[in-house]
Amino acid sequence: MSRRVIVVGGGASGLTAAAAAAKHGAEVLLLERLPRVGKKLLLTGNGRCNLGHADADFLHYHGSLPQAEQILARFDTERFFSAMGLYTRTDTEGRMYPLSNTAASVLDALRFAADCAGVKTVCGMQLTGLRQQDRSWQLCCGEQFFSADAVILAAGGSAAPNCGTDGNLLPMLRNMGYTIHRPQPALCPVPTDPAQVKALKGLRVRAAATALLDGTALQTETGEVQFTENALSGICIFNLSRLAAQHGSRLQISLNLLPDSGLHETDTLLRDLLRLRGTLPASDLLTGLLPKRVAEAVLKRCGIRCSESAEAVSAEDICRLSKTLHSLCFPVKGTAAFSQAQVTAGGVAGDCVTKQLESKTHSGLFFCGELLDLDGDCGGYNLMWSWASGCIAGAAAAEEKP
Ligand SMILES: Cc1cc2nc3c(=O)[nH]c(=O)nc-3n(C[C@H](O)[C@H](O)[C@H](O)COP(=O)(O)OP(=O)(O)OC[C@H]3O[C@@H](n4cnc5c(N)ncnc54)[C@H](O)[C@@H]3O)c2cc1C
Repeated sequence: MSRRVIVVGGGASGLTAAAAAAKHGAEVLLLERLPRVGKKLLLTGNGRCNLGHADADFLHYHGSLPQAEQILARFDTERFFSAMGLYTRTDTEGRMYPLSNTAASVLDALRFAADCAGVKTVCGMQLTGLRQQDRSWQLCCGEQFFSADAVILAAGGSAAPNCGTDGNLLPMLRNMGYTIHRPQPALCPVPTDPAQVKALKGLRVRAAATALLDGTALQTETGEVQFTENALSGICIFNLSRLAAQHGSRLQISLNLLPDSGLHETDTLLRDLLRLRGTLPASDLLTGLLPKRVAEAVLKRCGIRCSESAEAVSAEDICRLSKTLHSLCFPVKGTAAFSQAQVTAGGVAGDCVTKQLESKTHSGLFFCGELLDLDGDCGGYNLMWSWASGCIAGAAAAEEKP
């Protein structure tokens, strides 16, 4: 008789794990709490699904799961999808997308793979209780009960709760003795002092953004920074957001608005501009370097009145201005909501699971995807982990135990 495997959660990792377990000979049942599987997948990559990245360096991952390095190193995203008939393309920055450029086709390919392998799916079924009895698992979903030889938990993290992911299994797992590293929103905007960004709302600048902890640089990301009413946003800010959630108000975000020139070069440039535009209002001094409202905010930070003549700008002002252009600091104020986050930092600690992602304390219980304490940078890393971990957990759960 084949091994009965139940997968809890019909997202990226759950669909993958279910198909993998079925392909390895198991009889698989997939339980999803929402009316349909893959709701979050449809939103990924702005509807295009950035499903992987060509640069698979483990440095792009964070958390407490060192075993993930080997799992990811052995995983080939392109081959995984082409085996299902879904072809991918890689953009100039290394991000991988389906050739169709639509997330719906990724979900379809995963559903087809699961269906063809014989996976049975039941939607509207939320796991509420889990118990091991002798060598089998009893699952409670409200009024309904199921039993299985192995269970794969693929219920995701706490980010984007409107997609069915709200950390609902964490209290149960804590009660079962699992260490849960505190879930924090990641890949999200970083809230700051509204007074410092309100006037810049809607603007975008190219900058090198550095996370400073008590003044010490922890990480720098270069790219487009967007200003919202009360936060800094954009991909490079998303990549710093886990640090903001971790360190709170001890962290500052410093923007280098002229990342391609050195301080000395900027100083010379400003002096040239001053010579050229001495008769104009100071607000025109930075025209061409920055959007007008950003330029005005920088001048204001340096105590330079925009309406006064540029002639009144002193040598010390120029020196302060160059420094501010290279380090415009914003305090971190509070934490973004999970509803604004793409991913969760934290989750089931790596030392609770084996290399096959099986529980070290309960045989036949497996974990995959964002439920585990591993989160990746922006750029396809999180989905890559979902596919890779789903494959490993699915194949291992299907294996007969002596
Ligand atoms: C807007 C947005 C855009 C994103 N874009 C990208 C991108 O382009 N590239 C990338 O790499 N990553 C992206 N991500 C992150 C990526 O989508 C997730 O990391 C990934 O989906 C996690 O997969 P998962 O299987 O662990 O969880 P999910 O895909 O979140 O699936 C978990 C499933 O479990 C179900 N569930 C939860 N609890 C239960 C329960 N008790 N019983 C039954 N079912 C349950 C949920 O309803 C859900 O369907 C994005 C995230 C968001 C929110």
